[in-house]
Amino acid sequence: MQEITALRELLATPKKILITTHHKPDADALGSSLGLAGYLKKKGHQVIVVTPSDYPAFLNWMAGHDEVVVYDQHSDAKVRQLVNEAEVIFCLDFSAISRINEMGDMVLKAPGKKVMIDHHMFPEDFADITISKTSAAATAELIFEVIRAMGDEALIDAAMGECLYAGIMTDTGSFRHPSTSRNVHLIIAELIAAGVNTARVHRLIYDNHTLTRLRFLGYALKDKLVVHPEYNTAYIAITQEELKEYDSRTGDTEGLVNFALSIEGIVFAALLIDRGPAVKISFRSVGDFSVNEFSRAHFNGGGHHNAAGGISYDTLEATVTKLELLLPQYKEQLIHSA
Ligand code: 5GP
Ligand code: MN
Repeated sequence: MQEITALRELLATPKKILITTHHKPDADALGSSLGLAGYLKKKGHQVIVVTPSDYPAFLNWMAGHDEVVVYDQHSDAKVRQLVNEAEVIFCLDFSAISRINEMGDMVLKAPGKKVMIDHHMFPEDFADITISKTSAAATAELIFEVIRAMGDEALIDAAMGECLYAGIMTDTGSFRHPSTSRNVHLIIAELIAAGVNTARVHRLIYDNHTLTRLRFLGYALKDKLVVHPEYNTAYIAITQEELKEYDSRTGDTEGLVNFALSIEGIVFAALLIDRGPAVKISFRSVGDFSVNEFSRAHFNGGGHHNAAGGISYDTLEATVTKLELLLPQYKEQLIHSA
């Protein structure tokens, strides 16, 4: 409530506002950014959304996406100017400044007031106002709550609502993760009341595959899936050549890790992708085994208890070996995580 009071004071007069979110924005990152942008515009602020990198094409329907400034498609100087001119900078859906890459330093040094709204574990202390709730299923859920706490729920229209809905839908795994609380369902009911077409959002995000993406999924599951039943673990490692062969685009590998986790008895799944400069890793788990702790301890990452990311500057092969060698150490936890 203290944070809402501070936010209300900060936004009492029209401001120049910049909203940013994490590298390779997913539906929650982009949806919460564009949902908040829609709200702040209605309140008379001048708003721009800047992402550190591009995002999947299946998010290209979100209201306001055509005005998003993508950092690595512009000059550094142009983005620096936008960051420095902003009176308020919203940092959404990330808790570590390293998640916005080169923009991190700019944001830290910028004169504007920083507001973090996020649901990841262990938020860093860089914002003037920090609204961090790890029990929230999605940052989009928090954006809804912030708008409501500001007394402006009535301003949420179908276009903004669909951005928020997409964030909550994807971060809850279509309302099946344990994070799918009563609160989530109550908020969804309000979004439907605001005119959100839920079936449309599901279709736009989940039934929008290119044929090559589907073929890639088939290849990954048939030829690349490694299963270790003795550790209740499964993983998929993808090389740069394979990404090229299947003409992989941003977002094409999203959701792949969940197939590994969906195998009977598997409680720990990983997807390792050689992106060239580094190997990017997605971790997922079921039950007590904390992939947040695992990734923090071994792969320079973090995230949530059951969904985290990490990064490795070793080769893909060496990263896979490192993962393999760690498994015996976690055998007890992996066997008893349920
Ligand atoms: P994903 O595997 O879908 O990329 O990420 C899973 C979760 O972990 C997301 O909530 C994401 O924001 C977070 N995450 C992904 N990569 C990293 C990382 O390198 N560091 C941290 N701290 N969190 C990450
Ligand atoms: Mn999120």
